[in-house]
Amino acid sequence: MRAGATVGMQDCMATQGGTVTLDKRGERAVVLGGGMAGLLAARVLSDAYNQVIVVDRDELTGTATARNGVPHGRHAHCLVARGQQILEELLPGTTQAMSDAGVTLGDFNAQIQWYFNGRKLAASDSGLICVSSGRPILEQHIRTRVQAIPGITFREGHDIAGLDTTPDNTQVTGARIQRREQGSDPEVIAADLVIDITGRGSRMPAWLTELGYPAPPEDRIKVDLAYTTRHYRLKNGNPFTTDIAINQAGTPACPRGVFCYLLPDGKTVELSLTGVLGDHPPTDPDGFDQYVQSLPLPIHYQFIQDWEPIDDPVRFKFPASTWRHYETLTRFPRGLLVMGDAVCSFNPVYAQGMTVAGMEALALQQHLQAPGPLNALAFFTDIASQIAGPWQFSAIADLGYPGVEGERTDQIKLVNQYIPAVLAAATTDPVVCDAFLRVAGLVADPMSLMQPDIAKRVGRAMQQRATATAQH
Ligand SMILES: Cc1cc2nc3c(=O)[nH]c(=O)nc-3n(C[C@H](O)[C@H](O)[C@H](O)COP(=O)(O)OP(=O)(O)OC[C@H]3O[C@@H](n4cnc5c(N)ncnc54)[C@H](O)[C@@H]3O)c2cc1C
Repeated sequence: MRAGATVGMQDCMATQGGTVTLDKRGERAVVLGGGMAGLLAARVLSDAYNQVIVVDRDELTGTATARNGVPHGRHAHCLVARGQQILEELLPGTTQAMSDAGVTLGDFNAQIQWYFNGRKLAASDSGLICVSSGRPILEQHIRTRVQAIPGITFREGHDIAGLDTTPDNTQVTGARIQRREQGSDPEVIAADLVIDITGRGSRMPAWLTELGYPAPPEDRIKVDLAYTTRHYRLKNGNPFTTDIAINQAGTPACPRGVFCYLLPDGKTVELSLTGVLGDHPPTDPDGFDQYVQSLPLPIHYQFIQDWEPIDDPVRFKFPASTWRHYETLTRFPRGLLVMGDAVCSFNPVYAQGMTVAGMEALALQQHLQAPGPLNALAFFTDIASQIAGPWQFSAIADLGYPGVEGERTDQIKLVNQYIPAVLAAATTDPVVCDAFLRVAGLVADPMSLMQPDIAKRVGRAMQQRATATAQH
């Protein structure tokens, strides 16, 4: 067993040939979907099952570019601070290996130029690391490490067709898969545990209904968002110097945004424009340039005048954030779990999905280490408590846009009056800036921004701005 791996079930200890070994929870677990959440789950499952099989429709091994199964992988991705910490906990040494390979990572605060409402946040060292290097590269680094773990194998190029169950449908006994080749026969992989991690397109609600179970109720926040992304080659100099990204974040006051960072070759820039409520960044080159020009600050427009475009803009539409509330179900088949975007898919501009996938992997680890049979509904309750904070953060921020449908309680209205004041204070006060970015990095609770010391600083900054405005 790998150093540090703990099955943690005292009653599973057995003596073999004089050495103490830890029995596994079962023989085989099958992970449906080899995306970011699937990889982290596979890592955790390998401690508890002799075999972990990851099934995906794409060819994954060695893939360092965007792939069909993850069309959003063509667009800006940033692994925020808490996600990086979890990555190190589950796969120690990955950050250093990525850094050695040229992946852009650095301080979440001091090494990212963050602009909100046309003003730069006050940078300071946060000691928090963020990886801002493109999704396929990040996924490839994680996948390479996961593939090296004994017991984990990948069934690539296979479609997932459904679940195999006992005749009474109370226990999932495996997954039905089929190679993506004409004439190939469907096959069943028998398993003690099957986890659906196939992303927001998960068919689990339909599968449950077919098996005679209720589908989970769903929360949706319609944002009608689109990312449009183009890549450029640096020509004269490198404006990033020691920064890892230069971002203008969209807000209700200035809804158009841009995420922009260098890829590991050190000369290619990934630039993703974001627009909400149908104001989608165009895919024709002229329209794309005009959208860049319309951002609150001219910095990115000046950059692209100097950079050479190397592809055409590509768009990804994201209609709504969705949270499927599996934790509210009262019946669920044994031997089955759901994780990742298949449970909750967040508005991506807040960069939470991969980190929440990591938080769910840690929750899975705890459940696997606990004695007794896996309890799916208890697992769903635990991950719901992990999801709740980030969901609240992004949902409340989205409801700050008058065009987003949804109920606005007095508390939500209050928060959406307070946050612009926090952002304004964060442009002059590094302490407020740090507090805000800790929340955005998912290392601090959103309520920490309401603490008296931060609220006082926000109030002081408001007063200073009012005084300065009065004097001019
Ligand atoms: C535009 C955009 C930008 C984002 N930016 C960020 C960011 O900056 N930071 C962040 O943390 N998160 C971001 N996210 C969210 C992040 O991508 C996901 O939350 C995260 O990757 C976890 O997803 P997942 O592994 O659950 O699903 P996916 O990434 O969707 O992976 C699902 C996998 O399942 C496979 N699959 C699906 N169906 C089948 C099938 N029937 N048969 C076989 N295989 C199948 C797919 O090939 C894929 O590999 C962004 C999302 C979008 C849309």
